[in-house]
Amino acid sequence: MADFIDMQQSDHQQAVLDELKKHLLRDRVKTMVSGFSELGLLELTRKRTRESLMHLMCDACPACKGSGVVKTPRTVVYDILREILREARQFNPRQFRVIASPQVIDLLSEEEGAHLASLGEFIGKPIQLQAEVGMMPDALGGPALRARGVIPILTYHQIAEAPPKGTPLRSLCVAPRRFAAHMRWLKRLGWQGLNMTQLLPYLHGQQSGRVFGITFDDGYLNNLQHALPVLKALGFSATCYLVHDALGQTNQWDRELGIAQVPLMNEAQVQEWVSSGMEVGSHTLSHAHLAQLSADQAWSEIDQSKHQLEERLGLPIQHFCYPYGEWQAEHVQMAQRAGYLSATTTVRGRVAPQDSPWCLPRVPVHRSTHLIQLIWKLMSRHEDQRGRHALMASA
Ligand SMILES: [Zn+2]
Repeated sequence: MADFIDMQQSDHQQAVLDELKKHLLRDRVKTMVSGFSELGLLELTRKRTRESLMHLMCDACPACKGSGVVKTPRTVVYDILREILREARQFNPRQFRVIASPQVIDLLSEEEGAHLASLGEFIGKPIQLQAEVGMMPDALGGPALRARGVIPILTYHQIAEAPPKGTPLRSLCVAPRRFAAHMRWLKRLGWQGLNMTQLLPYLHGQQSGRVFGITFDDGYLNNLQHALPVLKALGFSATCYLVHDALGQTNQWDRELGIAQVPLMNEAQVQEWVSSGMEVGSHTLSHAHLAQLSADQAWSEIDQSKHQLEERLGLPIQHFCYPYGEWQAEHVQMAQRAGYLSATTTVRGRVAPQDSPWCLPRVPVHRSTHLIQLIWKLMSRHEDQRGRHALMASA
């Protein structure tokens, strides 16, 4: 698959096809060219002569161990009952304790409770149950196997055609077609895009899966116009971080830098965003440079933006994002004290198990981020290494 998403004219596409076919004549490996897709992706298949990208970029899943399937909780329950019977005969222990995932323990104590009770009577030993949150559904006994994966959270700003060349921060506009291609391909590859609240159990290691967070900074109206329909159609959700004092206005904080002024969502538009299954968070009252403020002013930006957004919108505001990626240890503490459940930074990287929920790294997506690059950012250590370098440089 090659990304020609910005190429709009069909005669240009035809020229690419002709040139490609000319060169393929010299290729000894058989290649099939299926042409351009609706989104401007050129699809072709070529016999593989090296290890697949998936193989190079991924580790075996700890739950399915590479098989691609896991046992259902009910199958695990029957395995447990058989194993208890076997061990009772062989080792004659005094008692049993079953440690398993909450789904398995629920089944054992409710629907399969009668089986468990009659087994206990039969072997004449007590059987205790212990649910271990974060345990893989088909893992048994032993220490709980926690989800140890890394989780990417994507950062988008505007979903719009970029302003003319030379305009500052033009890179923060991702074209609607490109955004749609990003999301559709991630869905095809089996990824689920989540808002920050949905992502929390994964961040806390209580759940594991092929998931990523989707965040939008600043609250642009073009998020509602261009991102929402795509996210909704795919069953994805996202968190949009709002600047309280600028609701329904423009990105005034960018004006001095000569950045084009574009509309931000007003209250009614935020309500539409939320009632369509999306989420909002806070990005301070005024898009503040926290590092340049006194402790009292910074606290007000962090704490008051939560309360004022909650009051004005009638919605819980549980997630925060530091404007300009500026944060210090005291701001991380403030975000926690204000009652936010998470806070995101612009440190590059995927979230690792040891990261604080109030200081989360993210993966930036820019105007020029091609699909293959995005997939590479999500699946490889590329971004994590970038982030570490950035942290060292700023330390
Ligand atoms: Zn911002």
